[in-house]
Amino acid sequence: MAKVLCVLYDDPIDGFPTSYARDDLPRIDHYPGGQSTPTPRDVDFTPGHLLGSVSGELGLRRFLEERGHTLVVTSDKDGANSVFDRELPDADVVISQPFWPAYLSPERIANARNLKLAITAGIGSDHVDLDAAIAADVTVAEVTYCNSISVAEHVVMMILSLVRNYLPAHRWASEGGWNIADCVARSYDVEGMQVGTVAAGRIGLAVLRRLKPFDVRLHYTDRHRLPRELEEELGLTFHPSAAEMVPECDVVTINAPLHPETEGLFDDTLIGSMKRGAYLVNTARAKICDRDAVDRALRSGQLAGYAGDVWYPQPAPADHPWRTMPHQGMTPHISGSSLSAQARYAAGTREILESWLDGTPIRDEYLIVDKGGLAGTGSHSYSTGSSTPAK
Ligand code: NDP
Repeated sequence: MAKVLCVLYDDPIDGFPTSYARDDLPRIDHYPGGQSTPTPRDVDFTPGHLLGSVSGELGLRRFLEERGHTLVVTSDKDGANSVFDRELPDADVVISQPFWPAYLSPERIANARNLKLAITAGIGSDHVDLDAAIAADVTVAEVTYCNSISVAEHVVMMILSLVRNYLPAHRWASEGGWNIADCVARSYDVEGMQVGTVAAGRIGLAVLRRLKPFDVRLHYTDRHRLPRELEEELGLTFHPSAAEMVPECDVVTINAPLHPETEGLFDDTLIGSMKRGAYLVNTARAKICDRDAVDRALRSGQLAGYAGDVWYPQPAPADHPWRTMPHQGMTPHISGSSLSAQARYAAGTREILESWLDGTPIRDEYLIVDKGGLAGTGSHSYSTGSSTPAK
């Protein structure tokens, strides 16, 4: 029988919801490109309910306990005496979300003597030291595509919010003001702007597609070029590197994975090469940007705005400069954890567990590490010997 250790974010401060703003979710069977949404044999949760917090338990308890397995759910993941560290040594499976990552460092993997499977309930397994997972023969799987469109929608929202100065204007209204000049003194139209994405994978391409109707000029850089028909359909300009793209852009969105090529990419030099007053939106990973360089650029006016939902570490400390720097639209790490996304990644986690417990293959597109090497999606998106060390 397996012990499954699941690390989830805390319940809402007012308690676990007993009712919801909406009664249902749209039914989505396939992602763009044709991959099917998760296909577990069954689920024990109501899609649209809060599943990603401790009491939501990703809807897994009944499924696991009816089969005789043990489920331990905690949000206490950091510090020497955390519940996570105490429960890890005999856990067979660890489940964690990038929003509230249980960092699986080499030391923790060494302590997890029974660990066979690490599931990311979401996308992005950079909180797992993949080299250590490979060495320990731990399978790493994530729910590929589950929240890519959720993030793309968030990116578009953040671009519009920054450029149009939405958040400060909303603050004036809720605080009782009617200060139109204060609201509009930093407000522009997106129409006609040059907008570029660093990476045009699932999220980056979805952002480009969503921005096309705004009559902007679209740019991208990526390790591989998109098909020519797609470039023509969206009117895309390809640039061989971020360094060549960003000086041309009014808005830059980062949609690349964190790995050595991208870690610290947006430093003083690259940000300094952007147009004065450009906007930067990063929902990929915080460490792609130099924390203090972003702060300096907002204070000097080199950047007109920065928004994103990714921080390092997570949760961010109360004194993290990105909480208080000017002209920012930061949120906690939420873009990929809408109730819509949660229904997909809870179902995907269940699908992965069903396969693993039954001894049947996990979908190739969900695999990052398997049988002592990168596998499936992992062999395309990650590289061995070069993972950015987990915290
Ligand atoms: P994909 O794997 O679909 O796309 C990533 C793209 O990045 C690929 O096209 C890849 O190129 C490209 N790439 C890799 N390295 C570079 C580089 N150095 N320069 C330019 N392009 C590069 O991933 P997704 O679009 O689904 O997700 C992207 C990232 O977003 C994830 O890695 C994750 O970190 C983050 N994310 C954030 C979430 C959130 O909640 N905020 C939720 C989900 C993801 P190629 O494959 O051609 O080599």
